[in-house]
Amino acid sequence: MEKSVYSGNGFFGNYGGRFVPEVLEEKLVELEQAFEKYHNDSAFITELEALQRDFIGRENPLTYAKNLSNQLGGAKIYLKREDLNHTGAHKINNCIGQALLAKRMGKKRIVAETGAGQHGVATATVCALFGMDCTIYMGKEDMERQQLNVFRMRLLGAEVIPALGGRQTLKDAVDEALNDFINHAETTFYLLGSAVGPHPYPLMVRTFQSIIGIETKRQILAKEGRLPDYLIACVGGGSNAIGLFHPFYSDEGVRIIGVEPAGHGLETAEHAASMTLGTPGVIHGFKCYTLQDADGQPLPVHSIAAGLDYPGVGPEHCAYKDSGRATYESVTDQEALNAFKQLSLKEGIIPALESAHAIAYAMKLAPKLSTEAIIVVNLSGRGDKDVDQVQQMLDLQTDKKTPEIYGF
Ligand SMILES: *Cc1c(COP(=O)(O)O)cnc(C)c1O
Repeated sequence: MEKSVYSGNGFFGNYGGRFVPEVLEEKLVELEQAFEKYHNDSAFITELEALQRDFIGRENPLTYAKNLSNQLGGAKIYLKREDLNHTGAHKINNCIGQALLAKRMGKKRIVAETGAGQHGVATATVCALFGMDCTIYMGKEDMERQQLNVFRMRLLGAEVIPALGGRQTLKDAVDEALNDFINHAETTFYLLGSAVGPHPYPLMVRTFQSIIGIETKRQILAKEGRLPDYLIACVGGGSNAIGLFHPFYSDEGVRIIGVEPAGHGLETAEHAASMTLGTPGVIHGFKCYTLQDADGQPLPVHSIAAGLDYPGVGPEHCAYKDSGRATYESVTDQEALNAFKQLSLKEGIIPALESAHAIAYAMKLAPKLSTEAIIVVNLSGRGDKDVDQVQQMLDLQTDKKTPEIYGF
């Protein structure tokens, strides 16, 4: 057994677990047993590896960001290129794994919830591939904001159902998707998009995302002949980060840093820095550091990056924080926007706004290190989905559209 913070029974240290009603508990036990049975099964692994190669396009490169590194004048920065995956981010790694498990379990129908639509699109994509029925719940408010993703999901054959309760956003979509799952569990598989939720989801999502760190380790050894000094990844629910971090858990010389969204600033109420400012509590069926009110209800959160907009964080990260194996830092919307522009300009790579948080922190750290030091940043996704939003924000900051005025 590899060394890990996983303590069995769905707990990572004091975090994780399965805090759900009994009807759901039964379904999750069934899922846990299927996951235990198949994830080490050689036929399952062979099929998964073929899909990773031929459908996702793995392995993706580990790119040395030479121009950015030289400009900063310190450590060498490498980028793990999850942005080059089919559908443009790491989320597909997990969707493919869970859909394959659903197939093994004989389920013909997938339900999922989505906030900004990225997980919905990745889920609809794998359902098209496997010929499965796909139902995606999305807050009505979110559907209006993300019309292009709604169209993509429908083009891929998914039924997109507006969640009409509450504030008509992610939380309400989660409620409706869970209800659907409870009512149709015989035929239906609930495909969760991050390393959060009740056991076995955090363990399962980490397993399917660990391909990121496994490849990175092989690639950096081939390029540099040694392991990196730092790993850096952005943390929303924590799936791209734990996928990179976990395979390096026992490599104690490798320092691990997760980057959370500080939004308008940690001193304001508009951020989503669950690790930095949250306290332990139970949300969405598991225990983690969470931003909660006095009654234990999740607080409204904000980030420039829709994918980081979550009031909790995966349990494995919480255990890493308590044990000191990893540290968690935060960067503001403005710093992420600056990194978004810098990476585009210096490397010819437009990053997702989520990934730009990790880049922003690397840009602060690199100049403090020697030119011998090595940093690997997980570039969790590409920025095509964000260019409209960024253009609008830059238009708000100026009424001229020349690059100088944009502040390049
Ligand atoms: C969804 C998303 C994230 C945040 O999710 P994690 O589970 O924390 O990885 C980060 N980057 C991109 C590109 C995303 O689409």
